Amino acid sequence: MTAEKVITTTEKYAIPGLTNVLYLDMTDRSYSIVDRRDLYEKYLGGSGVAVNLMLEEYKEGTGPLDPEMPVILSTGPLSGVYPTCTKTVALFRSPLNGELGESYAGGHLAMSMRFAGCETIVIKGASKYPLYVSVHNDKVRFRDASSIWNLSSTIDVGKIIRDVEPGAGRRSIIRIGPAGEKGVKYASVNVDTYRHFGRLGLGAVFGAKKLKAIVISGDQEIRSPDHTAYKKQYKKLYDTIVKTGLMEKYHNLGTSENVLVLNELRGLPTRNLQGTSFEGAETISGEHFADNYLIRRVSCAGCPIGCIHVAMLKRPFSKAHEYETLNISYDFELIYALGSNLGVEDPKAVLELIDACEKTGVDIISMGVVLAWATEMLQKKKISTEETLGLELNWGDAAAYLRAIELVVRAPNEFYAALGKGVVYASKKYGGEEFAIHLGGLEIPGYHTGLGNILGLTMGVRHSHLDNAGYSADQKAFNKEMSDEEIIDMLIKEDDLRCMLNSLTICLFARNVYTYENVIEALAAIGIRKTEEELKELGRDTLKKKYELKKKFGFSFENLALPKRFFETASTTGMLEEERVKKALELYRKKRGL
Ligand code: SF4
Repeated sequence: MTAEKVITTTEKYAIPGLTNVLYLDMTDRSYSIVDRRDLYEKYLGGSGVAVNLMLEEYKEGTGPLDPEMPVILSTGPLSGVYPTCTKTVALFRSPLNGELGESYAGGHLAMSMRFAGCETIVIKGASKYPLYVSVHNDKVRFRDASSIWNLSSTIDVGKIIRDVEPGAGRRSIIRIGPAGEKGVKYASVNVDTYRHFGRLGLGAVFGAKKLKAIVISGDQEIRSPDHTAYKKQYKKLYDTIVKTGLMEKYHNLGTSENVLVLNELRGLPTRNLQGTSFEGAETISGEHFADNYLIRRVSCAGCPIGCIHVAMLKRPFSKAHEYETLNISYDFELIYALGSNLGVEDPKAVLELIDACEKTGVDIISMGVVLAWATEMLQKKKISTEETLGLELNWGDAAAYLRAIELVVRAPNEFYAALGKGVVYASKKYGGEEFAIHLGGLEIPGYHTGLGNILGLTMGVRHSHLDNAGYSADQKAFNKEMSDEEIIDMLIKEDDLRCMLNSLTICLFARNVYTYENVIEALAAIGIRKTEEELKELGRDTLKKKYELKKKFGFSFENLALPKRFFETASTTGMLEEERVKKALELYRKKRGL
C-alpha cells in the first residue's frame, strides 16, 4: 500500500470515529501513522479492516514466520465507547496450520489503543535482537528487551514492564513467554492479566520477529458528536447487559458452568475424546471451583459482567509450613483441555497445569490435546518412554503432565520438538493420525456435540468454536429435530453475524445484546450511519475475504482431514457417520459459493 498521509494527533481527533493505522517496522525500528479513513468508513474496524489490510500487505509465498509476514491488531469504533466492546483482533498467518490466523483478546488493549489514538497496528519486519515497543500517545519507541528475554514467566515480564513504563490505569501490556521465544507453534500472547491471544500461535510469530512485548497507553479523548444521544444509547445497552439476564450466566459460574451440562449431555471430550462424559466431572465443575476456590471475578476494561473467574491456589514451598498463594483464572475450555481430556479430576491439579501454561505462554487447548494424544500413543505402544525421555504419561497423572509441559517448551529431543509443532505435525511423524483430535489443523475445543460442531470447526474461517454456532446448533437439534440443511443454514447466518460483530470487536458473549437494531442505534449515536443490509453485507464481505486469504495461504476443501476418532465416539446428538459429514460439508460449500 502507499502511505497517503502521515498525520498528527491533533488533526485526527477533529473528526469522530476511527482513522489511524500505526505501522511498525521491526527491522529498521521505524514507524508511521497513516490516515486510512477509507478503510474504516467501509469496514468499520476490527476484522473488517484487518482482513483488507492483510490483503494489501501479504506478498505471495511469504511464510508465517518470515519477517515480511505482517501481524495486524485492530479495534473497532465502539471500543472504549460502549459496554462489552472490549476485544482486539489479531490477524496473522498461523505457524500452526499455515492458514489464516485470527485471535481475539480482551483486557485493556482495545481501550488503550483508542486512548493512544492508534486504532489499528500493523507490525512488519524482524529485529536481530529482542525488542519491546512502547506506544504512549504519539510517542513510539523500540526498546531493548534483552533483559526480559529468557525469563521463565510471562507474569514477571508484565511486572517488570509495569515498573518502568508510564500510563498506569490507561495502559495495556501484551507479551510472550518462553514458548513464543522458542517457537512453539501454538504459543500465545498474554494480554494484561488473564487475557490472551490464545489460538493459532501468534506468540511464535512475535518470537520470530524478536518482539517480546508491546506496551500501549494514551490519554486522548474519544468525542461523540451528540453526547445526549450517546448517553441514552449507552444506558440502554448497559441496562440490557446487567438487568435482563442475557449475560447472567457469564457472571455467575462463567463458562465453566458448561462442564456439568456437557457432561450430562455426553458432549464433554474425555481422555482424548475416547469418551464424552467424565466420572470426575463433579470435582472439576464450575460449581465446585466456585464453592471452593473462587476468590474474585474480574472484567475486561469497559465491561460490567466480570466473566473472568479467578481461583486462589495455596501451595507449600518449604517444609517449615511456608506457603505461596497463586491467583489463577479458569474457564470451561481450560478445564476441558487440562481436566477431562487428560483424565485429571483433582481441581488443584487442573489449576497448577493452567498456571504452568499461563507462565510459559501457550494455548492451553492445543497443549491439552497434544498431551492427550501423546498419552494415548504411549498406551497403544506406538511410542515408548525412549521418546518421552523416561516420562510415563498416564490419564490423571498431573505431575507427569506438568513435567511434559516444561519439556514441550524446552524441546530437548525430536519428540518434544514435534509436540511443540502441534498434533497434526506430531501424528504425521509418529502415527496416530486417526486419534489426533484436530479439525482444520487446530486442536479442538471442548465440544463433541454433533454435526453442527464438526461442520463449524471444519469450515469456520479460523476453525474456532466462537466464530460459528456449531455447538449451539447441535443443542437446538438435541431439543427439536433439525435437518442437516437447517443446521447449515443456521451456521451460515451466524458466521455472517459474528463476522460483523467482530468488525466492531464486540465481545461475542454479548452477541444477544448487540442485535442489528442495537448496533445500528449505537453507531448512529456516535455519528456512523449504517443500515441493517449494509451491516449484513459487511459480515458477508469480510467472511469472503477471509476465505480469499485462507486460499492464498494454502487452504483447500479437498485436503480437509476428518480424523476417525470423531466417528468412533458418540456425541450429544448420537453417533456421526463420516459420509453424512462429508455431504454436509459439500452442501455448506455450495450454499456459501466457496
Ligand atoms: S463478558 Fe467477559 S470476556 Fe466479554 S468483555 Fe466482559 S469480561 Fe471480557
